[in-house]
Amino acid sequence: MSSSDGIDVTGVYAAAHNVQPYLKRLLGPKAEAFRTELDTVLAETDPPDEAGAARLTELLGRHRATRTHLEDVLSDRPLYRPARKRGRDTLRGGPVGLPGPVPPVSIWKCGACGHTWPRADAADPVPEKCEHCRTPGVVRMPSI
Ligand SMILES: [Zn+2]
Repeated sequence: MSSSDGIDVTGVYAAAHNVQPYLKRLLGPKAEAFRTELDTVLAETDPPDEAGAARLTELLGRHRATRTHLEDVLSDRPLYRPARKRGRDTLRGGPVGLPGPVPPVSIWKCGACGHTWPRADAADPVPEKCEHCRTPGVVRMPSI
């Protein structure tokens, strides 16, 4: 039920729903307030329509992490799965949204020294070098 004039109602609602398990990790202390607002918009715009999708787009667009989530979900049309891997250089067009449970925002791991550290934001780019041993180009995100 996507409309023809731009806004992808189905995709926006899918993103609004499937972002919810990740809000705590994506937004930290802002997650609860955001969840309340999201729930309110979802409750007020049932059944989904373009006006509701526009409100959800605005809401998700307020934070980089949730905006990125929305973009990822929309780019996975028609399945609208959240991106679960960002270990590759290309954020778009890669093998995102593989089937199965989506891992939480995870950790970075250095391939040289094995040092791991948490990834604070799902939208964070791949680090250029290990924060521990400073070896460049060996940091990867494990697929946990
Ligand atoms: Zn290292």
